Amino acid sequence: MAIERTFSIIKPDATARNLTGAINAIIEKAGLRIVAQKRIQMTRGQAETFYAVHKARPFFGELVDFMISGPVVVQVLQGEGAIQKYRDVMGATDPAKAAEGTIRKAHAQSIGENSVHGSDAAETAAIEIAQFFSGNEIVG
Ligand code: GDP
Repeated sequence: MAIERTFSIIKPDATARNLTGAINAIIEKAGLRIVAQKRIQMTRGQAETFYAVHKARPFFGELVDFMISGPVVVQVLQGEGAIQKYRDVMGATDPAKAAEGTIRKAHAQSIGENSVHGSDAAETAAIEIAQFFSGNEIVG
């Protein structure tokens, strides 16, 4: 399987509960390497651009408000089949449906406040990484 890069966000519900290290430990234990990472306060514009695909959904406003409600940690993860691997490590969107051992099962609070984001495909991973990182900030 090819070495891939995926984009991850540790969301405000997780940074508020000091879970950055605990989540990073799960990521690294799964064999994914954190090749870029920074803690930022997202602007409303950044959050709206990032989640533009969900603009028509009824929860869009709530989602944007949540993503700017506190600091987030944006990351680039690298490894074999990193995109699907991280989706597996994150678990289902709704923590009530997330499998044992996943980040969302362990830490998420609700379908909205679900602790992490991970890209769903190679194309979106490239777009999401480019929104938050320049090439020289990613060191594999
Ligand atoms: P993901 O790829 O597993 O993150 O899920 P989606 O792409 O379907 O949704 C993006 C994000 O929108 C989720 O991670 C949640 O934070 C949020 N979200 C999804 N469904 C709901 C919902 O029904 N209510 C609220 N408030 N947020 C939601």
